[in-house]
Amino acid sequence: MSRYEYEKRARQRRRRRNSQKRSFERGYDARYTVESNRSRSRNYNSGRGRRIGGVPTSGRVQRMRRANMRRALIASAAVVAVLAIFAVVVFALSKMGSNGTKVAATPVPTPVPTVAPTPVPTPTPKPKAVALTFDDGPSRDNTENILAVLKQYNAHATFFVVGNRVEVDADILQHEIEAGCEVGSHSWNHPQLSKIPWSKVKKQLNDTSNIVKKCGNGYEMKTLRPPYGAISEKMRNRLKVPMILWSLDTLDWKSRNAKKVFNNIKKNVKDGDIILMHDIHASTAEAIKKIVPWLSEHGYDMLTVSELFERNGKKFKGGVAYTDGLTE
Ligand SMILES: [Zn+2]
Repeated sequence: MSRYEYEKRARQRRRRRNSQKRSFERGYDARYTVESNRSRSRNYNSGRGRRIGGVPTSGRVQRMRRANMRRALIASAAVVAVLAIFAVVVFALSKMGSNGTKVAATPVPTPVPTVAPTPVPTPTPKPKAVALTFDDGPSRDNTENILAVLKQYNAHATFFVVGNRVEVDADILQHEIEAGCEVGSHSWNHPQLSKIPWSKVKKQLNDTSNIVKKCGNGYEMKTLRPPYGAISEKMRNRLKVPMILWSLDTLDWKSRNAKKVFNNIKKNVKDGDIILMHDIHASTAEAIKKIVPWLSEHGYDMLTVSELFERNGKKFKGGVAYTDGLTE
């Protein structure tokens, strides 16, 4: 073969190869791009009776047309999604730029800590103990102030409540119970129980029990403080609850003077005392701010009447009047 012949055949081979390559690329495009499918669709629509693979094509063409439509729809949906994301990003960036501050990060929800039950500290008992008692309440003006001081010193007290006041100030009664204090009965409206018919005594006590139970989530009073400390023989014989009197009268109702009430306690207090006060007087609530820290510093635990009795191994008996919490 001459050199000329050789080069001529080499050129023909190159042309064939290039031509095959181009047709392959066209074929590739035709199979995989939307644009080419569209142009094929146009051919199918041209009505020239095109056949594919020698078979009449109407059913197959329709299927392919539907497939092409689906692809086109998917493609346009993708384009819309991309545009939406782009718009959101642009909006966020413009916000960041406009006022020079960063867009607030999505707040991460603070995980709610699982609350372990607070262990109730068992304070070491002090050498002595007394029961602070408050009559004639609840009082909207003073009782909460007294509770706040008691709480601060981990002290408890006993509130001998009047039924018709509980009816009005149920929330305060609830706070007394929540503070770990004791609630006792002081009758419905403060009569001398020793001077009224027995049926009325029963009504006074039942009505008060019921209102305290109702307002105090079922709370049951275990003690009675008869108004004025007035006790009849009938009461001693028939009552099922113990009657709680006092060993130290602060005379707070008489002096209405915080300093005098405090001095009275400083001078007279002793172990096992049941101390009489009234939470309807602002002077008493004021005195408590000094009384409670002083008693705490001087070796006194402040307990409810029931707690004081329990500490000293003393049991309640129905119809019995107690004046202090000391062991008999
Ligand atoms: Zn009273």
